[in-house]
Amino acid sequence: LRSPSRTFHGNNRLLTFQITSHYESINQGKKELPEYFNFASDVLDEWARLEKVGRKPANPAFWWVSDKGEEVKWSFEEFGSLSKKTANVLSEACGLRRGDRIVAILPRVPEWWLLNVACMRAGIVLIPGTSQLTAKDILYRLQASKAKCIVTNDTLAPAVESVLSGSEFLKSKLIVGQGSRDGWLNFKELLAVASADHQCVKTRSQDPMLIYFTSGTTGFPKMVLQSHSSYGIGFAVSGRYWMQLTPSDIMWNTSDTGWVKAAWSSLFAPWICGSCVFVHNMPQFKPQVIAETLSKYPITTFCTAPTAFLMLVKHDVSSYKFPSLKHCVTGGEALNPEVLAKWKIQTGVDIHEGYGQTETVTICANMKGMKIKPGSLGKPVPPYDVQIVDEHGAVVPQGEEGTIAVRVKPTRPFCLFSEYLDNPEKTAASVQGDFYLTGDRGFMDKEGYIWFVGRADDIINSRKGFGILNFNFHFSQRMYSFIVVKAFIVLAPAFVSHDPEKLIHELQQHVKKVTAPYKYPRKVEFVQELPKTATGKIQRKVLKNKEWAKV
Ligand code: ATP
Ligand code: MG
Repeated sequence: LRSPSRTFHGNNRLLTFQITSHYESINQGKKELPEYFNFASDVLDEWARLEKVGRKPANPAFWWVSDKGEEVKWSFEEFGSLSKKTANVLSEACGLRRGDRIVAILPRVPEWWLLNVACMRAGIVLIPGTSQLTAKDILYRLQASKAKCIVTNDTLAPAVESVLSGSEFLKSKLIVGQGSRDGWLNFKELLAVASADHQCVKTRSQDPMLIYFTSGTTGFPKMVLQSHSSYGIGFAVSGRYWMQLTPSDIMWNTSDTGWVKAAWSSLFAPWICGSCVFVHNMPQFKPQVIAETLSKYPITTFCTAPTAFLMLVKHDVSSYKFPSLKHCVTGGEALNPEVLAKWKIQTGVDIHEGYGQTETVTICANMKGMKIKPGSLGKPVPPYDVQIVDEHGAVVPQGEEGTIAVRVKPTRPFCLFSEYLDNPEKTAASVQGDFYLTGDRGFMDKEGYIWFVGRADDIINSRKGFGILNFNFHFSQRMYSFIVVKAFIVLAPAFVSHDPEKLIHELQQHVKKVTAPYKYPRKVEFVQELPKTATGKIQRKVLKNKEWAKV
């Protein structure tokens, strides 16, 4: 890589930043949302154009490595050409038309990024899913979405085949793998002979682009419809000020491709800022591999889940040197302030926490120039007007707890989901008064920072009539999770041999001391593990259902 300073001169700087600034102004309400918008032609092809005339730092668009030592490095031009070929594969061999839906269940392989952009070019609606899905989950997604095509790899193909009889909408199956498989089209073979000549469709800003199934933390996963402009334009501000990305940066986000965080931090945010998307196709999360990757490659910006940061600081990364790393972000679940502090000691870099949902872009974040308040979600990200509201949608006084909400009247932000597909009741119920309700509880402090308290679904009404919220404590070695004032506890190895009765008493006394005494868990159960979603979120409903079944 050439150093940006050698290729990037004063006058050109303005031009390069114009793309991001233009979309940032739309987020800030200074410019109107365009009637037509397509991320592939309006953002990526523009970067390719600037790259061609040397008005962009010599940074690849996409840099992919695998645990087997393979490497792919594409410029915006190369990526553009391959994604056009992919668009032709989808339209021709797979027979997909504009508006059709396609499910993509792939590990972090380059083809996933090509498919995303190819779908934008052809107006096809992409539905990403995680490789951890079972045959039953795949069937649920195929039936609910009525997808006409599915793309997956050799590992998951048998699971897809086992549910074909129930998938009456499916017309074609595309495999990303080496060998051929009966009944499947082979992506690599088709790509090799496809034409790079493709005219991007003209999409309206509000046309459908993506369908995401939510994580299913609180119930069945919901189908969230996102428009071209929502994710396509909505990350300009958070990309620039939360992730602090520029065209000279290299961003690595570790998310699985099936989780919305991959779209946020491995596609839309870095690319609207002209940054390089770095991907390591790791089969498993191993702290050593993460640390070695941060040492070996010139990664400037790193994003991973709070649980992953916890594993990294436990592993202790102080002995590694991360020469290029300057900025870290996280989100998706609460970041323990202790983890932030340890990461700062071990690496010298802060972690900037953000908050959002599949339904939204970044709602709040610890952005550039703000003092980080450890444990807070930071401040609202434009264009969102974030308030704390009561059950009638009325804004509560500062400092009081309520539901975290986003103003939708008189104008619904363009970067909020269009609807829960085929679920008008749920879509309608998500708005109360002038606000979209996130379903999360929190409060706003005097300086306008938002603090996350818990999910509204998890509120416990104790016998004394107090509302008690769920919370997780991550002390250095132990993790406790409370429900219905019963605690399910996974003991760290060092505590397994302790007297359980004594431990229970000690824990109860501890909780009485650190919180209001009525919140202490009257019941305690030690378990081997906590039920979690594929993205690592604790599924309290599973614990609750098990508990109710006992009664
Ligand atoms: P479902 O809606 O199906 O129950 P889900 O809400 O877990 O699943 P996602 O959209 O992936 O699905 O997750 C968004 C949720 O994750 C938020 O509503 C919030 O509860 C939680 N979350 C996101 N960021 C943070 C954060 N920084 N701190 C605490 N919780 C967070
Ligand atoms: Mg949710």
